[in-house]
Amino acid sequence: MQSGTPMTTAGDTALVETQSGAAFPPAGVSVVVFDVVGTLVEPSPSVAVAYQRAALRHGLNVDAAVIEQRFKAAWRRQEMVDAAAVPAFATSRGREAERWRAIVDDVFGGEPVSATIFADLWDHFGLVEAWRPLAHGRDLVRLAVDAGVTVALASNFDERLLAIAEQLEPLSWVPHVFASSEIGWRKPAPEFFRWIERRLGCEPTEVLLVGDDPELDVAAARRAGWRSLGVADR
Ligand SMILES: [Mg+2]
Repeated sequence: MQSGTPMTTAGDTALVETQSGAAFPPAGVSVVVFDVVGTLVEPSPSVAVAYQRAALRHGLNVDAAVIEQRFKAAWRRQEMVDAAAVPAFATSRGREAERWRAIVDDVFGGEPVSATIFADLWDHFGLVEAWRPLAHGRDLVRLAVDAGVTVALASNFDERLLAIAEQLEPLSWVPHVFASSEIGWRKPAPEFFRWIERRLGCEPTEVLLVGDDPELDVAAARRAGWRSLGVADR
């Protein structure tokens, strides 16, 4: 057990009790690394609505449900591009910008205006106002901080995360912010996890990753020798 009594809410207690009844962070964990999108924050409005509004500003009217479907397919397509690359899941600021440009192009069917919509959306998702904290994530960050362990954010988001994390709770409570574009690797690459261990000076077995993605967070962290905890994406 960690010393001290963390401030918790009823919602948080319910969440923690569903995780095998174990305390959070679990005994033996000295570093807790949080995924960001879907774990601590979510887009608000939704991605589909943000895309729809951006398109409307540039004279293109596309149904939000259609956008959502196309976005999921486009996002998966870019994950496959990274998986097939040599080395797999290496990234950079340039690659991340290219990913989002390709996704926006796919969503809007290569319409010429999609370049302008892309620029609009790139700015939008870099604003703190585009994101909303998730209550269960905030509770877990509070518990980790109160427990006195090292706490970090580790996201496949790009350098835009760095400015957002300074301004938005609970991200702003966390001293270490790692974005894939800055690391040079994306989850699930093992290099992503090794890079963080080196930066924090810790062993894999003392790290717990908390994330919403069963593959990119939970399974990839375990393959890297970390512990991991899946949280539901609501
Ligand atoms: Mg996530």
